[in-house]
Amino acid sequence: REASQIPQRFLFYKPFMSSGMADRIIMEQELHKALAHQEFYLEYQPQVNLKTGNIESLEALVRWHHPTRGFVPPDMFIPIAEESGLIIPLGKWILETACCQAKAWEAQGLPQMKVAVNLSLGQLFQQDLVQMVKGILQQTKLEPHYLQLEITESMTMNIDQMTQLLHELKALGIQIAVDDFGTGYSSLSYLKDFPIDCLKIDRAFVRNIQHNPNDEALVSMIISMAKHLRLKVVAEGIEEVAQLAFLMDGGCDYIQGYLFSKPIAAEQLTETFQELHSHAEEILGQFKYVE
Ligand code: C2E
Ligand code: MG
Ligand code: MG
Ligand code: MG
Repeated sequence: REASQIPQRFLFYKPFMSSGMADRIIMEQELHKALAHQEFYLEYQPQVNLKTGNIESLEALVRWHHPTRGFVPPDMFIPIAEESGLIIPLGKWILETACCQAKAWEAQGLPQMKVAVNLSLGQLFQQDLVQMVKGILQQTKLEPHYLQLEITESMTMNIDQMTQLLHELKALGIQIAVDDFGTGYSSLSYLKDFPIDCLKIDRAFVRNIQHNPNDEALVSMIISMAKHLRLKVVAEGIEEVAQLAFLMDGGCDYIQGYLFSKPIAAEQLTETFQELHSHAEEILGQFKYVE
């Protein structure tokens, strides 16, 4: 995505305001330094199981804290990391860090949770992707079942290639989710061929669910389709109880959104885990007595 297409609200970040070539080059150079200077870190956002109220997984989201510019949103730097090839070492760092953290939580006595890691398109084309994932699982000793990779629909890779790659990844014992489902370009036909476990409904469909009958229809359709295909469904970007009510009614499996928690740093998650859990139970408790 070109910087000029990034929604205005992300552009609080002055030096990259224009999408000029010079700015892109500067950002690219700074991104390279950022990895060496450890300016990246991960935040984690809970995914709550609506049937049990438990936090069953955490999505890892990369953050860049630039020493002088401050916080740069991933929507802005991931595309540049992709174009410059930096996504390969950065993606590896993200995966290692997330798997390592998942093991650390286990050691600290938190319930075992899945960690969901976003893969970008450039990584799907990475020759040694499967070997890399395998190596990281061995090195961190994370049980493969507790790693979920999130991929996005895209028309740049052909279906046969993608099916092959996903089968190789699945053979490692990990889970695969399709992120931002419904916003991509691809046809539905891949759903029958791809070995996937989970669909994530994009926030764009959920945002106006209470006000827009078309969004309501689409979300219900996605959930019911997922059920028929025996896939789990995660709805992202849930901010309001009314949205939650609709999704619970429709049989959505997991919810991820500010209503439960914003993405938070690893240490903060450890410290506040009980509170997060109680908070989720409290919200879901409202529904137990409704019927
Ligand atoms: P995504 O994978 O779809 O991640 C979900 C985004 O929705 C995150 O934005 C998250 O903070 C935001 N979100 C979650 N709940 C709510 C909510 O209730 N309200 C609102 N307004 N937003 C919510 P974030 O962290 O800014 O990431 C944006 C995108 O950047 C991600 O979308 C993903 O495509 C990419 N990204 C983030 N981290 C990584 C990463 O580690 N690797 C790769 N390849 N891409 C990443
Ligand atoms: Mg994601
Ligand atoms: Mg998403
Ligand atoms: Mg997204």
